[in-house]
Amino acid sequence: MKNVFSKLTRRQMIQLAAAGIAAPAALALTGCSTTGRKGAGNVVVIGGGFGGSAAAKYLKRYNPELNVTLIEPNKEYITCPGSNWVIGGFHEMKQITHNYNAAKKNGINVMHETVASVDPDKQVIKLASGKTMAYDKLVVSPGIDFKWDVHAGVDENTEKFLPHAYKAGDQTLLLRDQLQSMRQGGTFAMVAPPNPFRCPPGPYERVGMVAHYLKQNNPTAKILILDQKNAFSKQGLFVEGWELNYGQMIEHVKLDDGGKLRSIDVKNKTIDADYGKVKADVINYIPPQKAGKLAVATGLTNESGYCPINQQTFESTIHKNIHVIGDACIAGPMPKSGHSATSQARSCAANIVLAMAGQEPISAKNVNTCYSLVTPDYAISVAAIYDFQDGKIVSVPGSGGVSPMGAAPDVRKMEAIYTQGWYNSIADEVWG
Ligand SMILES: Cc1cc2nc3c(=O)[nH]c(=O)nc-3n(C[C@H](O)[C@H](O)[C@H](O)COP(=O)(O)OP(=O)(O)OC[C@H]3O[C@@H](n4cnc5c(N)ncnc54)[C@H](O)[C@@H]3O)c2cc1C
Repeated sequence: MKNVFSKLTRRQMIQLAAAGIAAPAALALTGCSTTGRKGAGNVVVIGGGFGGSAAAKYLKRYNPELNVTLIEPNKEYITCPGSNWVIGGFHEMKQITHNYNAAKKNGINVMHETVASVDPDKQVIKLASGKTMAYDKLVVSPGIDFKWDVHAGVDENTEKFLPHAYKAGDQTLLLRDQLQSMRQGGTFAMVAPPNPFRCPPGPYERVGMVAHYLKQNNPTAKILILDQKNAFSKQGLFVEGWELNYGQMIEHVKLDDGGKLRSIDVKNKTIDADYGKVKADVINYIPPQKAGKLAVATGLTNESGYCPINQQTFESTIHKNIHVIGDACIAGPMPKSGHSATSQARSCAANIVLAMAGQEPISAKNVNTCYSLVTPDYAISVAAIYDFQDGKIVSVPGSGGVSPMGAAPDVRKMEAIYTQGWYNSIADEVWG
């Protein structure tokens, strides 16, 4: 079979494909499908979000003879990317909702169930329905869970009244509805989480989307951010965009300048911080975070609350034959994003296919891009490429970059168009 990839060694092709550079189909056309015959087995993937859906897809693509099972309780997945646009009132939930039809068509065994537990020694998982399943390799991508015990006055029920909207779905709609019901001239208060957390620019994109809604519907309202850290992603660009588009509507208070939260009186919607007592109309409390419940229950986490992994293969350093990707894992300087999770899924899938065929691991390049809207027509972005060196994921010096400060409106507008393009292409990669 002659094609442009025929001069590459099998190893080079996998490295390219895992880095997202070569057509992944090249793997199926030549080396891997042959290798796969030797290495076929059962791979179970837990979680049908960015990491898990992409991992299942690439495992099956890199070795069509593997039995790949994807376990996800929900029949539809609603992305967090784009959920801030729904809160801003100019995007619909259906535009960020995806299903698993393509995964099924791609030959993946999709099961809508919850995994109750994993026995890493016996290599068996137990479903909430009581069924058990054995695996040769397990991929765990359960996303995040919240730490409700850090701040006084809050617990798991708090989200019903003060939506975090940090898992998309009902929470997104609840926050949107509270924003739309806010009294004229009211205060929208956000408590932004400490590092490390899902989507470092996420809270700040949200502030822009809330401001966009308020500017049109409630122009005398205020937004107050009480931040549990001293600096945030793309800070200069966000602040420039906020001032340009929303004047003095947004006040950001960093941790050491009064942001530090003491407690929240949920019933009276009052926040007690070093800044003072704030009576707010809407409170968007985004709690501190850790790896998803199943990762914690399986003993895959360390004292950081996230999962240590071999940063080349994404195999847990605690339990053999379990790979952790996405927000739940500790992937060096890679931010916890949908883009990172998808990139990690490719690298992890390639290494699982190789390991099952008795081959050496490869070091794939990983990549992240994060676009953030400040208004529907004004966006900023950051991108980076990551390599594996001396046992760790590291940023490649000089790769990627951020949007320039002080750029002309048409540059920001083009970036807003790219934002939607980014969303469409990653959603198609993961669920298409
Ligand atoms: C407001 C906001 C905006 C964002 N914007 C962007 C953006 O613009 N770009 C970007 O790249 N990222 C963005 N992100 C981050 C992105 O959403 C996450 O990084 C990404 O979802 C992580 O993927 P994951 O696979 O680790 O977890 P998830 O996508 O959360 O998937 C986890 C899945 O596991 C399932 N699961 C959990 N436990 C079990 C179990 N026991 N059994 C079976 N299934 C289970 C869950 O149902 C879920 O579907 C944003 C996040 C937020 C909150």
